[in-house]
Amino acid sequence: MSDKTFQFLNVQRQTPRTVPVAIRVLGYGEIAGDFGSPQAGTQAERCIDCGNPYCEHACPVHNYIPNWLKLVQDGRIMEAATLMHETNPLPEICGRVCPQDRLCEGACTLEQTAFGSVTIGSIERWVTDEALRQGWRPDLSAVRETGKRVAIIGAGPAGLACADRLRRAGIAADVYDRQEEIGGLLTFGIPPFKLDKGVVRTRRDVLEGMGVRFLLGHEVGRDVEFGQLLDDYDAVFVGTGAYTYVDAELPGRELHGVHDALPFLIANTERLLRDEPVPHAFDFRGKRVVVLGGGDTGMDCNRTAIRLGATSVTCVYRRDEANMPGSAREVKYSREEGVEFLFQRQPLEILGDADGKVRAVRVVETALVDSGDGRARPQNVEGTEYEIEADVVIQSFGFLPSPPDWLRSHGVALERSGKVATGVNGALPLQTSHPRIFAGGDNVRGADLVVRAVYDGREAAGSIASLLLA
Ligand SMILES: Cc1cc2nc3c(=O)[nH]c(=O)nc-3n(C[C@H](O)[C@H](O)[C@H](O)COP(=O)(O)OP(=O)(O)OC[C@H]3O[C@@H](n4cnc5c(N)ncnc54)[C@H](O)[C@@H]3O)c2cc1C
Ligand code: SF4
Repeated sequence: MSDKTFQFLNVQRQTPRTVPVAIRVLGYGEIAGDFGSPQAGTQAERCIDCGNPYCEHACPVHNYIPNWLKLVQDGRIMEAATLMHETNPLPEICGRVCPQDRLCEGACTLEQTAFGSVTIGSIERWVTDEALRQGWRPDLSAVRETGKRVAIIGAGPAGLACADRLRRAGIAADVYDRQEEIGGLLTFGIPPFKLDKGVVRTRRDVLEGMGVRFLLGHEVGRDVEFGQLLDDYDAVFVGTGAYTYVDAELPGRELHGVHDALPFLIANTERLLRDEPVPHAFDFRGKRVVVLGGGDTGMDCNRTAIRLGATSVTCVYRRDEANMPGSAREVKYSREEGVEFLFQRQPLEILGDADGKVRAVRVVETALVDSGDGRARPQNVEGTEYEIEADVVIQSFGFLPSPPDWLRSHGVALERSGKVATGVNGALPLQTSHPRIFAGGDNVRGADLVVRAVYDGREAAGSIASLLLA
């Protein structure tokens, strides 16, 4: 037994310090601070090496967590970074944005005790940041080029993970994206206070150093024909995400002052990237903002609205806190920054004044009933309707896959929901009904998580390699 086995009795769980609320709400900088080397090592020593690392199982990419925690304990940062990359092509990003409380840390054996889980995500983030800063780069010296070429459509986490794995297999990876920067929602959806855009740019340098070619500002179907890609490449990976807005069809959604979550967040991030001033529509100073929806996107809207100067931000969600889809960490940060939550309220309509401007949201209280599928179903409680005054309303009800027409016209089977069907009828994992077309991420799963998109990209690359190099 190591002398560190009972370290958790003496060293409390610590997360990196966050920027004080009064300062963080003044800007968009990342709010989570960094571990330093002694702190990361000491926190890594809290791992009890329980022998049954359920954390690995709960991590969607099945990171070798206890093994790299041991390397961190021994100060072997570069080796830890190499081991992290064996399973996760984007560890510094997952370390920042994964809802660890629902994944690795939620499954840590120590989480079942009063001592609290190992701070896995923060250690993963620190190790990768530090190793990259010290010059760590993937070692591809043993890779032999195969002459095979793959087009990847979408530079989101699914496409980036796929590109990383293809290059490690000696396959050329050309990544097409309609945006002018890589990252997909990492760059344009997730706000900078959760993920600094410099982190994504560093990853771009790493990938380009591996030989990945980015063809940005190229929309497939508009600037490049999909059929051309099929002709020019040995296989195609489609990681185009999920962008069809779920419209709750609330009466009053056309009123002045009503925004949809993603266009709102994207427009704000783009203006920050271009260093432009706040446009009039997003100048929330002196305004009462109501955010409808309890997912991660809703939390990002809450916290962005605070930074845009809102007098008050109220987040309305139809279930209770325990049933919220958003990460507990993001709910906590929202609260710290001044967001008020109204649970078990179903929005009924958005009300306007004579000038067509928002003045309130009418809601009804809900009771939660057993739905039989393990998730409480909200039921409106008659006679409990009331109005919440508002000047701005942001609707955040989720996203559905938006399969491009060119997929269907090339014979790719879709599910009724619009998700791309993969791995059916004996197909390889993530292979579509067309043998040379693979897909993964939100367009296969529906709106989900970065780490699951990474998993899909990684697995799809494995399937592509087994097809092309058989
Ligand atoms: C506001 C917001 C906050 C989120 N916060 C979190 C979080 O904290 N943690 C977490 O784990 N997940 C979070 N998510 C979810 C996460 O961002 C997604 O699950 C993930 O980005 C999906 O990856 P993807 O590669 O499948 O798609 P995307 O990231 O959407 O990337 C798809 C890419 O495809 C490109 N594309 C689409 N069509 C074409 C075309 N025809 N031609 C060329 N390019 C095309 C797009 O431009 C885009 O770059 C959040 C999502 C949102 C919207
Ligand atoms: S990838 Fe996400 S779930 Fe897996 S160990 Fe890292 S932070 Fe945890």
